[in-house]
Amino acid sequence: MNKIGIDLGGTKIEGILLDETNNVIKKIRIPTQQEKGYDSIIKSIISLVDELKQFAKTDFTIGISTPGAISKKTGLIKNSNTQCIIGMPLQEDLLKCLKHEIKIENDANCFALAEATLGAAKNYDVVFGVIIGTGVGGGIIINGKIHRGRTNIAGEWGHHALKQNGNNCYCGKNGCVEIYLSGPALEKRWTELTGKADSLESITNNQSDSKANQWKSEFLENFGVSLANVIDILDPDAIVLGGGVSNISFLYNEGRDAVYDKVFSDLVDTPILQNKLGDSAGVFGACLL
Ligand SMILES: [Zn+2]
Repeated sequence: MNKIGIDLGGTKIEGILLDETNNVIKKIRIPTQQEKGYDSIIKSIISLVDELKQFAKTDFTIGISTPGAISKKTGLIKNSNTQCIIGMPLQEDLLKCLKHEIKIENDANCFALAEATLGAAKNYDVVFGVIIGTGVGGGIIINGKIHRGRTNIAGEWGHHALKQNGNNCYCGKNGCVEIYLSGPALEKRWTELTGKADSLESITNNQSDSKANQWKSEFLENFGVSLANVIDILDPDAIVLGGGVSNISFLYNEGRDAVYDKVFSDLVDTPILQNKLGDSAGVFGACLL
C-alpha cells in the first residue's frame, strides 16, 4: 500500500507519497496563503493529493497533519494556530471532495509519531515530541501509537500555563508556554530587552553582553520548567525536539541541565534529542497514521 501524507503548516503545505517501505516516491511543497482563507487551504490540499496520486503504484492511504485537533464534541477543528481553520469541518469537507478515506491528526502528534517510528527516538517506547517553532505543541507516543487522551488534547504542552498571571495567549488563557518559548516570542523578548529586532539565529550566535545573558537565562528557566513538568508527570523514555527553535545547540546541554535541575527525582537521565527528519517529520507522520 502506498501512502499519501499532507502537512498543513503555517507557511507551507507539503505533500509526500511513500511506498510500502516508507521510501519517498514524490514530494511537493507549496505556500499556504493563509490570508486567502479556509477555502484556499482546502483547494491546495486537494490539488496536492490529485498530483501525488498520479505517481502511486498501488492503492493508497491519505493522512493529513494539521495544526489543532478535531473536537470530539463537534467534529470541528479546535486549538489551531492556523486560525482560519478553527471551527471548520476540515475532515468532512475533504472527505466530500476527495471521496477517499482520510485520517487527520494534530501536527505535533504527527511529528512525534514520525520521530518515534523513523527518526531520532526510534528505539524508545514512550516518547514525548515537542515542536517549538512559530507555534508550540507536543505529542505523546506510547509503543508506536499516538496517545490522544480522553478529549484529544493529550500532550498539548504549548498551552499549559508556565506563568499563572503571564502574558495573554491567542488561545484565551494567560502565561502559556507558547507565549514564552515560540520563535516569535523569543525574538519579541529580545526586542523588549535590547530595543533591537534580530533573528533568533543572530541572537543565539552573536550576542554576549548582559542583556544576552538575561535573555538566555530566562529562556533556559522557561524551557527547564516546562519540560520538567512533563518528566514529572509522564516520565518518558525520550524527549525529541522539533521546529525552528530546536536548532539552538545549547538546548541539548545547558537546556537539558536546566530541565534536569527541576525534575522531582534524585535520578534523571531522560535523553533530550534533536529531531532527525527536520521539517519533513509532519508529512512522514501523516503517512504513518
Ligand atoms: Zn495558550
